[in-house]
Amino acid sequence: MTKKNTLKIEEYLDFLFKNPKCELNYSKDYELLIAVMLSAQTTDKGVNKVTKVLFSKYDTLEKLSKAPLNDIKQIIKPIGNYNKKALNVKNISKDLIERFNSKVPRTHLELESMSGVGRKTANVVLGELYDIPSLAVDTHVIRVSNRLRLVNSSNPLEIENKLKKIFKKENWNKLHKQLVLFGRYKCKAIKPDCSDCKLEDFCNKDYIKK
Ligand code: SF4
Repeated sequence: MTKKNTLKIEEYLDFLFKNPKCELNYSKDYELLIAVMLSAQTTDKGVNKVTKVLFSKYDTLEKLSKAPLNDIKQIIKPIGNYNKKALNVKNISKDLIERFNSKVPRTHLELESMSGVGRKTANVVLGELYDIPSLAVDTHVIRVSNRLRLVNSSNPLEIENKLKKIFKKENWNKLHKQLVLFGRYKCKAIKPDCSDCKLEDFCNKDYIKK
Protein backbone atom coordinates (compact mmCIF):
# COMPACT_ATOMS: atom_id res chain seq x y z
CA MET A 1 0.00 0.00 0.00
CA THR A 2 1.48 3.32 -1.08
CA LYS A 3 1.31 6.48 1.02
CA LYS A 4 -0.75 8.05 -1.78
CA ASN A 5 -3.39 5.30 -1.65
CA THR A 6 -3.49 5.38 2.15
CA LEU A 7 -4.22 9.10 1.98
CA LYS A 8 -6.86 8.48 -0.66
CA ILE A 9 -8.57 5.98 1.66
CA GLU A 10 -8.53 8.43 4.58
CA GLU A 11 -9.85 11.27 2.46
CA TYR A 12 -12.63 9.14 1.02
CA LEU A 13 -13.66 7.83 4.43
CA ASP A 14 -13.68 11.40 5.77
CA PHE A 15 -15.85 12.41 2.82
CA LEU A 16 -18.33 9.55 3.39
CA PHE A 17 -18.33 9.54 7.18
CA LYS A 18 -17.20 12.93 8.48
CA ASN A 19 -18.23 12.39 12.10
CA PRO A 20 -18.61 8.64 12.48
CA LYS A 21 -20.63 7.46 15.47
CA CYS A 22 -20.93 4.16 17.24
CA GLU A 23 -24.33 2.76 16.25
CA LEU A 24 -24.98 0.95 19.52
CA ASN A 25 -27.39 2.85 21.78
CA TYR A 26 -26.32 3.46 25.38
CA SER A 27 -26.68 6.09 28.06
CA LYS A 28 -24.43 4.71 30.79
CA ASP A 29 -20.88 3.43 30.58
CA TYR A 30 -21.75 -0.14 31.60
CA GLU A 31 -24.54 -0.20 29.01
CA LEU A 32 -21.97 0.29 26.25
CA LEU A 33 -19.78 -2.51 27.59
CA ILE A 34 -22.73 -4.89 27.73
CA ALA A 35 -24.06 -3.80 24.33
CA VAL A 36 -20.67 -4.40 22.67
CA MET A 37 -20.40 -7.83 24.31
CA LEU A 38 -23.91 -8.65 23.04
CA SER A 39 -23.05 -7.48 19.51
CA ALA A 40 -20.76 -10.46 18.79
CA GLN A 41 -22.04 -12.39 15.74
CA THR A 42 -25.10 -10.17 15.36
CA THR A 43 -26.13 -6.70 14.21
CA ASP A 44 -26.10 -3.44 16.17
CA LYS A 45 -29.73 -2.97 15.13
CA GLY A 46 -30.70 -6.27 16.75
CA VAL A 47 -28.72 -5.42 19.89
CA ASN A 48 -30.38 -2.00 20.16
CA LYS A 49 -33.81 -3.64 20.07
CA VAL A 50 -33.07 -5.98 22.97
CA THR A 51 -31.05 -3.54 25.09
CA LYS A 52 -33.91 -1.05 24.86
CA VAL A 53 -36.02 -3.55 26.78
CA LEU A 54 -33.24 -4.87 29.02
CA PHE A 55 -31.86 -1.50 30.13
CA SER A 56 -35.28 0.00 30.80
CA LYS A 57 -36.53 -3.00 32.79
CA TYR A 58 -33.28 -3.19 34.80
CA ASP A 59 -32.23 0.44 34.81
CA THR A 60 -29.31 0.31 37.25
CA LEU A 61 -26.23 -1.86 37.44
CA GLU A 62 -27.46 -3.20 40.77
CA LYS A 63 -30.82 -4.26 39.29
CA LEU A 64 -29.12 -5.79 36.26
CA SER A 65 -26.79 -7.82 38.45
CA LYS A 66 -29.79 -9.22 40.33
CA ALA A 67 -32.03 -9.79 37.30
CA PRO A 68 -33.27 -13.40 36.98
CA LEU A 69 -31.07 -15.19 34.44
CA ASN A 70 -34.10 -16.61 32.65
CA ASP A 71 -35.62 -13.20 32.19
CA ILE A 72 -32.39 -11.86 30.65
CA LYS A 73 -32.38 -14.89 28.34
CA GLN A 74 -35.94 -14.25 27.20
CA ILE A 75 -35.23 -10.57 26.54
CA ILE A 76 -32.05 -11.11 24.53
CA LYS A 77 -33.22 -14.31 22.78
CA PRO A 78 -33.72 -12.59 19.36
CA ILE A 79 -29.97 -11.92 18.99
CA GLY A 80 -28.94 -15.58 19.33
CA ASN A 81 -26.36 -17.30 21.55
CA TYR A 82 -28.53 -16.00 24.37
CA ASN A 83 -27.67 -18.59 27.05
CA LYS A 84 -24.02 -17.61 27.12
CA LYS A 85 -24.63 -13.92 26.56
CA ALA A 86 -27.22 -13.75 29.39
CA LEU A 87 -24.70 -15.28 31.74
CA ASN A 88 -22.14 -12.73 30.57
CA VAL A 89 -24.58 -9.89 31.33
CA LYS A 90 -24.97 -11.16 34.90
CA ASN A 91 -21.26 -11.77 35.42
CA ILE A 92 -20.16 -8.44 33.95
CA SER A 93 -22.68 -6.54 36.10
CA LYS A 94 -21.54 -8.35 39.23
CA ASP A 95 -17.85 -7.89 38.37
CA LEU A 96 -18.30 -4.17 37.76
CA ILE A 97 -19.93 -3.77 41.17
CA GLU A 98 -17.69 -6.09 43.16
CA ARG A 99 -14.30 -5.58 41.50
CA PHE A 100 -14.43 -2.21 39.79
CA ASN A 101 -16.47 0.03 42.07
CA SER A 102 -19.32 0.10 39.53
CA LYS A 103 -17.14 1.79 36.90
CA VAL A 104 -16.05 0.39 33.55
CA PRO A 105 -12.27 -0.08 33.88
CA ARG A 106 -9.78 1.62 31.57
CA THR A 107 -7.30 -1.11 30.77
CA HIS A 108 -7.26 -4.12 28.47
CA LEU A 109 -6.18 -6.36 31.31
CA GLU A 110 -9.10 -5.42 33.54
CA LEU A 111 -11.69 -5.35 30.77
CA GLU A 112 -10.62 -8.69 29.34
CA SER A 113 -10.76 -10.30 32.78
CA MET A 114 -14.57 -10.13 32.56
CA SER A 115 -16.62 -12.88 31.01
CA GLY A 116 -17.41 -12.44 27.33
CA VAL A 117 -15.07 -9.47 26.96
CA GLY A 118 -12.32 -9.99 24.39
CA ARG A 119 -9.83 -7.68 22.74
CA LYS A 120 -12.30 -6.29 20.20
CA THR A 121 -14.88 -5.38 22.85
CA ALA A 122 -12.18 -3.83 25.05
CA ASN A 123 -10.88 -1.76 22.11
CA VAL A 124 -14.36 -0.43 21.27
CA VAL A 125 -15.03 0.47 24.90
CA LEU A 126 -11.66 2.17 25.48
CA GLY A 127 -12.02 4.23 22.32
CA GLU A 128 -15.66 5.12 22.76
CA LEU A 129 -15.83 5.76 26.52
CA TYR A 130 -12.37 7.10 27.27
CA ASP A 131 -11.05 8.28 23.92
CA ILE A 132 -7.99 6.05 24.38
CA PRO A 133 -6.52 5.43 20.90
CA SER A 134 -7.72 1.95 19.95
CA LEU A 135 -8.39 0.06 16.78
CA ALA A 136 -11.05 -2.59 17.18
CA VAL A 137 -11.06 -5.22 14.44
CA ASP A 138 -14.41 -6.80 13.66
CA THR A 139 -15.70 -8.66 10.62
CA HIS A 140 -16.18 -5.41 8.64
CA VAL A 141 -12.68 -4.15 9.40
CA ILE A 142 -11.19 -7.53 8.41
CA ARG A 143 -13.02 -7.57 5.07
CA VAL A 144 -12.53 -3.91 4.17
CA SER A 145 -8.83 -3.72 5.06
CA ASN A 146 -8.10 -6.82 3.00
CA ARG A 147 -10.11 -5.55 0.04
CA LEU A 148 -8.26 -2.24 0.22
CA ARG A 149 -4.91 -4.06 0.40
CA LEU A 150 -4.08 -2.46 3.73
CA VAL A 151 -3.49 -5.95 5.10
CA ASN A 152 -3.28 -9.49 3.84
CA SER A 153 -4.48 -11.46 6.82
CA SER A 154 -7.58 -12.75 8.57
CA ASN A 155 -6.00 -12.62 12.01
CA PRO A 156 -7.58 -9.75 14.00
CA LEU A 157 -4.51 -9.01 16.12
CA GLU A 158 -2.21 -8.99 13.09
CA ILE A 159 -4.64 -6.66 11.30
CA GLU A 160 -4.89 -4.36 14.32
CA ASN A 161 -1.10 -4.08 14.57
CA LYS A 162 -0.66 -3.49 10.84
CA LEU A 163 -3.36 -0.79 10.73
CA LYS A 164 -1.80 0.88 13.75
CA LYS A 165 1.48 1.11 11.86
CA ILE A 166 -0.15 2.55 8.75
CA PHE A 167 -2.40 5.17 10.35
CA LYS A 168 -1.65 7.93 12.83
CA LYS A 169 -2.54 7.19 16.43
CA GLU A 170 -4.82 10.22 16.73
CA ASN A 171 -6.94 8.81 13.89
CA TRP A 172 -7.37 5.24 15.17
CA ASN A 173 -10.69 5.75 16.96
CA LYS A 174 -12.23 7.62 14.05
CA LEU A 175 -10.80 5.21 11.51
CA HIS A 176 -12.19 2.15 13.28
CA LYS A 177 -15.71 3.60 13.12
CA GLN A 178 -15.28 4.70 9.51
CA LEU A 179 -14.09 1.26 8.40
CA VAL A 180 -17.05 -0.36 10.19
CA LEU A 181 -19.54 2.03 8.56
CA PHE A 182 -17.86 1.65 5.17
CA GLY A 183 -18.16 -2.14 5.48
CA ARG A 184 -21.72 -1.97 6.73
CA TYR A 185 -23.15 0.42 4.15
CA LYS A 186 -20.89 0.46 1.09
CA CYS A 187 -18.21 -2.22 0.98
CA LYS A 188 -20.77 -4.83 2.05
CA ALA A 189 -19.91 -8.51 2.30
CA ILE A 190 -22.41 -9.37 -0.42
CA LYS A 191 -22.87 -7.04 -3.38
CA PRO A 192 -20.53 -4.20 -2.41
CA ASP A 193 -21.35 -0.89 -4.05
CA CYS A 194 -18.24 -0.92 -6.29
CA SER A 195 -19.69 1.03 -9.22
CA ASP A 196 -19.96 4.07 -6.95
CA CYS A 197 -16.71 3.61 -5.01
CA LYS A 198 -13.71 5.93 -5.39
CA LEU A 199 -11.31 3.24 -4.21
CA GLU A 200 -11.95 0.77 -6.99
CA ASP A 201 -8.55 1.42 -8.66
CA PHE A 202 -6.54 -0.49 -6.11
CA CYS A 203 -9.18 -2.75 -4.59
CA ASN A 204 -8.31 -6.46 -4.32
CA LYS A 205 -10.88 -8.06 -6.59
CA ASP A 206 -9.90 -11.55 -5.43
CA TYR A 207 -11.12 -10.65 -1.97
CA ILE A 208 -14.47 -9.19 -3.10
CA LYS A 209 -16.50 -12.35 -2.55
CA LYS A 210 -15.12 -12.90 0.96
S1 SF4 B 1 -14.47 -1.14 -4.95
FE1 SF4 B 1 -16.06 -2.37 -3.97
S2 SF4 B 1 -15.01 -3.96 -2.81
FE2 SF4 B 1 -13.51 -2.34 -3.33
S3 SF4 B 1 -13.49 -0.98 -1.58
FE3 SF4 B 1 -14.96 -0.14 -3.00
S4 SF4 B 1 -16.94 -1.04 -2.40
FE4 SF4 B 1 -15.32 -2.24 -1.44
